[in-house]
Amino acid sequence: MKKRTIVVCPQCFQSSHELSENYDPEKPVNGTMIMLSEPYRSYGWETHAEDDTGVGEGDILCGFCGEQIVKNGVIIMENEYDTPTTSVNKKHRRRR
Ligand SMILES: [Zn+2]
Repeated sequence: MKKRTIVVCPQCFQSSHELSENYDPEKPVNGTMIMLSEPYRSYGWETHAEDDTGVGEGDILCGFCGEQIVKNGVIIMENEYDTPTTSVNKKHRRRR
């Protein structure tokens, strides 16, 4: 199951961005670690330079309110799944 981690804005609590596969909690946030989420990307929302490690947290802004979504390295994350999670089937015993 594909999982993505969305980034929640600390001001308006909406999410326009998500972590990219380049995200590394050991390193300072840069432009390549966070990307604009769908469907906003296909809406043509403006995004920061997502291939630029020179882009810092001050340039990564919430698409809803324009606030910085990363402050002092703090990212509010939430996991989101592409498909609805099915209940974990722990009772997988078969009775004879
Ligand atoms: Zn916001």
